[in-house]
Amino acid sequence: MKNRMSESKLKGFKQMLHEMRETEIRDIEKQIGRDLDPALVRKIDVAMDSGDWATQEQIEGIDHLILEKRYQTFKELSSAFRRMERGTYGLCENCGVGIPLDRLEVEPLTRYCVPCLTKKEEFEKAEKGVGNPPTL
Ligand SMILES: [Zn+2]
Repeated sequence: MKNRMSESKLKGFKQMLHEMRETEIRDIEKQIGRDLDPALVRKIDVAMDSGDWATQEQIEGIDHLILEKRYQTFKELSSAFRRMERGTYGLCENCGVGIPLDRLEVEPLTRYCVPCLTKKEEFEKAEKGVGNPPTL
């Protein structure tokens, strides 16, 4: 069963994601001590999205280490925006069930429902040789 969220709810989440993205950009600006111009922000977006910004030498004047620290968040953000475009935002990527709204409100970037996330974490732990093997 898929429970799509309403348009207005989705809009609310979109707004939340935009704010998160802006906060990230402001933090970068704080770290580099100047404002980013919109063209540069756009380049960062593209680089974050493609994931191969290590070779994006046109992002001048910004320490790549600063970006690297924020890379994960940007990546999660752009993937959330993509899911919104596809209409799959708020659905678990593994089993397709609707993630409860109160959980999304706390973790708007989450991609899995709690049972799938727990399984995934157990699996990752097992891969690293920590804990017991998962029973999937
Ligand atoms: Zn799931």
